[in-house]
Amino acid sequence: MPVAHPLESPPSADVLGRQDPELAEILRAERERQSTTLQLIAAENFSSPAVLAALGSPLANKYAEGYPGARHHGGCELVDMAERTAVERAKALFGAAHANVQPHSGSSAVLAAYAALLRPGDTVLALGLPHGGHLTHGSPANFSGRWFDFVGYGVDPESGLIDHEQVRALARAHRPKAIVCGSISYPRHMDYAAFRAVADEVGAYLIADAAHPIGLVAGGAAPSPVPYADVVCATTHKVLRGPRGGMLLCGSELAQRVDRAVFPFTQGGAQMNTVAAKAVAFGEAAAPAFAGYARQVVANARTLARCLTAEGFTVTTGGTDTHLLTVDPAPLGVDGRTARGRLAAAGVFLDTCALPGPGVRGLRLGTAAVTTQGMGETEMARIAALSAAAARDESAALRVRGEVRELTGRFPPHPGG
Ligand SMILES: *Cc1c(COP(=O)(O)O)cnc(C)c1O
Repeated sequence: MPVAHPLESPPSADVLGRQDPELAEILRAERERQSTTLQLIAAENFSSPAVLAALGSPLANKYAEGYPGARHHGGCELVDMAERTAVERAKALFGAAHANVQPHSGSSAVLAAYAALLRPGDTVLALGLPHGGHLTHGSPANFSGRWFDFVGYGVDPESGLIDHEQVRALARAHRPKAIVCGSISYPRHMDYAAFRAVADEVGAYLIADAAHPIGLVAGGAAPSPVPYADVVCATTHKVLRGPRGGMLLCGSELAQRVDRAVFPFTQGGAQMNTVAAKAVAFGEAAAPAFAGYARQVVANARTLARCLTAEGFTVTTGGTDTHLLTVDPAPLGVDGRTARGRLAAAGVFLDTCALPGPGVRGLRLGTAAVTTQGMGETEMARIAALSAAAARDESAALRVRGEVRELTGRFPPHPGG
């Protein structure tokens, strides 16, 4: 089979289909899965054709270790322009003095933030994993738990809200080198000022892991951690709707330490196609339409929380300020894991998550992807009803699957098919 010259034409499904039907079929089927099922996984979104075009561009071929103007390879003048554009757009979008757009992922960004500020063995105070902390916040299965001494704060088991009195007491008792605020499942705004006050009191760095809400921050729908945190870690692929990757924001005093912590300490060559795609996404997020998107994401999440409550789910904290919510399906007679399986069989994809209280697993849902598809509050009510039907009764899967297909058919996530 003839192999098309890589630069002859833009990469397209046709090129792949002719050369490698086996992989082309997998990609086609995944596209169809995404188009005909509901993506309520709170960390997922649909990036634009422009972002995908940058990702699939010849910048993927370029080696570019180092930073613009100081690379370890020749021929970097054009990718330097792409990275400078991404950095300038990130700084303007978030009002930050410095941005590093090279982290390959959210976890790589957190690793680099720790590398910039900490030494192995240092004490770090972060939201405990059973309360919604990320793996990089001290899981024993992760570098963070192996190399640092993590102390976990928690949420109040009744209200589901972060207990700032406990944060202060633990900080006084353990004198951490850094405090991390950020979560994979906290549905309310973070009180960055409260964390800053405790960090100042005990002389700790404040690291905001805003992987989830950073897209809402870009759209003006959530408070910004930038004025409060020494270093902000983020992803670019969640609500922000860019390519899969990470980002760091900080003041100018820490700029050099943060840059060196990314390269050469924790990474090699940057992925320049991804860096270019991040620039495209920052450009999109700076447009007025993105503020409307961010507002609608939150309005949809609030409506979904209200409708799920009416269906019998217990919604943690009674609602949400953000794109995500967590619920206990127990009142419907089903546990989180079983409900996730039943919903998946019906074409509704979401995650299980830890809920306040010992050992309880519930469900986490997010509205970033369905809002990108153009769904509004009418559709959220429908999604709540379909989710409840599928969770309650295993035998409803086929009927719900059909209704999900009908609903998603009216809101195609991939423009142009
Ligand atoms: C998603 C997330 C990460 C990690 O992002 P990856 O790109 O999956 O490595 C880190 N921290 C928090 C709080 C997250 O939600």
